[in-house]
Amino acid sequence: MSITPLMPVYPRCGVRPVRGEHCHLIDEDGTRYLDFAAGIAVNLLGHSHPGLIGAIQTQAATLMHVSNLYGSPQGEALAQRLVDLTFADTVFFTNSGAEAVECAIKTARAYHQSAGNHEKFELITFNNAFHGRTMATISASNQEKMHKGFSPLLAGFRYVEFNDLEGAKAAMTPQTAGFLVEPIQGEGGIRTGTEDFLRGLRRLADANDLMLVLDEVQCGMARTGTLFFHEQVGIEPDIMAIAKGIGGGFPLGACLATEEAARGMTFGTHGSTYGGNPLAMAAGMAVLDAVANDAFLAEVRDKGERIRARLEQFIGNYPELFEGIRGKGLMLGLKMKLEPRPFMQHLRDNHRLLTVAAGDQTLRILPPLIVGDAEIDEFFDKLSAGAADYDPAKA
Ligand SMILES: *Cc1c(COP(=O)(O)O)cnc(C)c1O
Repeated sequence: MSITPLMPVYPRCGVRPVRGEHCHLIDEDGTRYLDFAAGIAVNLLGHSHPGLIGAIQTQAATLMHVSNLYGSPQGEALAQRLVDLTFADTVFFTNSGAEAVECAIKTARAYHQSAGNHEKFELITFNNAFHGRTMATISASNQEKMHKGFSPLLAGFRYVEFNDLEGAKAAMTPQTAGFLVEPIQGEGGIRTGTEDFLRGLRRLADANDLMLVLDEVQCGMARTGTLFFHEQVGIEPDIMAIAKGIGGGFPLGACLATEEAARGMTFGTHGSTYGGNPLAMAAGMAVLDAVANDAFLAEVRDKGERIRARLEQFIGNYPELFEGIRGKGLMLGLKMKLEPRPFMQHLRDNHRLLTVAAGDQTLRILPPLIVGDAEIDEFFDKLSAGAADYDPAKA
């Protein structure tokens, strides 16, 4: 037998973390890495946040799981908190981002079909999007590398160029149910949706009774310096999928919707065995306690601006490597002139700095939101040293 016990779907690297401390990961052999990947925008509070640990420990010792057949004081409390903080009137909890997007897709279809409009099932989505790895969420992306071997895809998605409002308008048909879009594409290369584009989608949705569905799984939860990125654009969605940061490392996602948008999601239409279990709710509440306040968000914006300014200065020294800086707050991308993966590996293996490669030749910089000045200095020390001794020919 040559297959590994862990199904070999990930090309895993040699870093094997066993412990985390604040913004650092510690390997099996004791090597310390500066973690500016944060579990891919998950560990908002770093790796040993006392508030998050305490909340999970206390809840684990009290009640971990009960079925959604019973009342959920913990779920009601976290849902109410999210409703108070956002456009939404109602929340469905999931265990992951893909499940949150899956629920968002079902909610958008059911909005129309519950009103008798059975022909409206198609969502317009955008090139190089990433919405997860379930059948529906790979079908929602035009990326063929995610489709290969898994046909037939789920019907009902139409792909248009990102940031192309005219293209989105032209793709509308009597089957269109709405738009599904990441307001900042994460895996696609930290590509920010323009105000014209995102506001335009909102206007098209309003004018044609369509659902605007935002996937803020990566860019949401304080990552960009507001609780959700769409606040910076001055629009509100009808439906929104969130996950990643909301559990701070505990598996948790959610689909948020207005009352109108959720009109098709009635008794028996959807469910999840684990979704919204008390342990996940305790983690989500602890994360919101830490991040959902003006002082914390202002700090994220401030740190984001300082890192960005230093990055701008830094890339000027290496015009052969870097083209520019992308993103908002602490969701930053270094657009490179070469493939980012070998450079990411060089930073990891030779300088003990963790970042994440993304599409469109972009290196993602996603520190824990609690990153301090000392770690920011350490990041620039490692990044500068890494750029100085990088030899693409040897990588
Ligand atoms: C990561 C991600 C997902 C999928 O989340 P999982 O928890 O891996 O299922 C969906 N959408 C976006 C934008 C993401 O970044």
